Amino acid sequence: AKSMGVNRSTLVTALDNLAAAGLLEGRHGGGTYISGSGWHGMAHEAMPNWNEAIEEGWYYPNLPEIQQINQAEFRPGIIRLGTGELSPELMPQDAFNDILYSLSHRSRTLNYLEPQGSLELREALSVHLQTTGIQASPDSILIVSGSLQALHLISVGLLPRGSAVLLEKPSYLYSIHAFQSAGLKMSGIPMDNEGVHIARLEDAAQHVKDQDHISLLYTIPSFHNPTGSVMGDHRREELMTTARTLGISILEDAAYSDLWLDKPPPSSLKARDQEGRVLHMGTLSKAVSPGLRLGWLVGPEPVIRRLADIKMQTDYGTSSLAQEAAALWFAEGHHAGHMERLRPELRKRRDFMLDLLRQYFHDIAEWEIPAGGFYIWLQFTVSPLSIRQLFHTCLEQDILIHPGYLYDRLDASHIRLSYAYASPDEMERGLQCLAEAVHRLMDS
Ligand code: PMP
Repeated sequence: AKSMGVNRSTLVTALDNLAAAGLLEGRHGGGTYISGSGWHGMAHEAMPNWNEAIEEGWYYPNLPEIQQINQAEFRPGIIRLGTGELSPELMPQDAFNDILYSLSHRSRTLNYLEPQGSLELREALSVHLQTTGIQASPDSILIVSGSLQALHLISVGLLPRGSAVLLEKPSYLYSIHAFQSAGLKMSGIPMDNEGVHIARLEDAAQHVKDQDHISLLYTIPSFHNPTGSVMGDHRREELMTTARTLGISILEDAAYSDLWLDKPPPSSLKARDQEGRVLHMGTLSKAVSPGLRLGWLVGPEPVIRRLADIKMQTDYGTSSLAQEAAALWFAEGHHAGHMERLRPELRKRRDFMLDLLRQYFHDIAEWEIPAGGFYIWLQFTVSPLSIRQLFHTCLEQDILIHPGYLYDRLDASHIRLSYAYASPDEMERGLQCLAEAVHRLMDS
């Protein structure tokens, strides 16, 4: 704020307004403060004012509940009912053991790689993307350290401060943080069963245009996080036409699109893109392994080259080990077979969770049946019910849930459930406890 000559209180007021609009959390309240107890044996008088330094940083802290979730996930015995990751036993451990063994003989693995990422991997991805209808030359692909990094690179590399990002409401929680910390304005567009609401998108885009801001639509069309919904074929066509008419670009997040359970989703927005309007991001995190930290961004070559240059300034490239492993994963044809084995397992878990919901939640909540991905967007129909209180009550009993307000600050009735992580036994115990906690809160 200082370097831009912006008065800090003006900035804080502006942020408070955005918080009121439902997309941001307030700046204060989630921060990490240094107290005497954290400074073993240090002389206090000599300590610089780190608390002020922390407050002045450009990055916003996570909401307290997000920080608590990030810590609690590693607590022994915790039941994770909302975690957006595959259960470790669903990850392809054996294939990676073989891949990593064969990499131990390669010297490239210990070196830096090309700025856009390993050519071998980009070639393999180009072939993989073609199977999904996307024509992407290796030069139009950037390898990133998880697709979240693509969101950050785009936020700081393509959009001047004050630009507007239009995004689904609710949306992936760290996308909100990436845009927010980069100083972008956000406008949440409501969704219906077919995806983002076109008329509301037009209104928001027009408003942004009237103020001369550049705008980008960030969307998760297939197996949306957190709602699990799929944008229909017709809606995708309509969206492409509308984006052309409005002159806005699109960032398509395809993190879950491989994870269809009933039938493949309609073809991606990128596959329909004739004019270089769509940036498309993908990741190995959801279907294969989040720990590899491996994702990709597809877009027009000048965009990819610029973001590769920024990435070089950021981290010199994604881990060579992860890139080489991913190159073999695709080139040796592991991916298709893994997906074929994974789908029936996830289908079983989804159906089991749905059975439990019918058993324990039929009179207190509503939900849609997701056709893929990980999530069930559970809406409680009883009120008043404090989701914040429910989160804390559950956490005391070692049950971790993801409140809906993490994805839309004004949401007061949802939680995100995931059938990908908890074991069937944990799902049963966890959901039963959750239902009991809801009843107790209703009666109190
Ligand atoms: N996009 C969406 C929609 C996600 O849910 C996630 C992970 N939760 C990501 C991107 C980022 O994943 P990663 O950085 O691990 O690729």
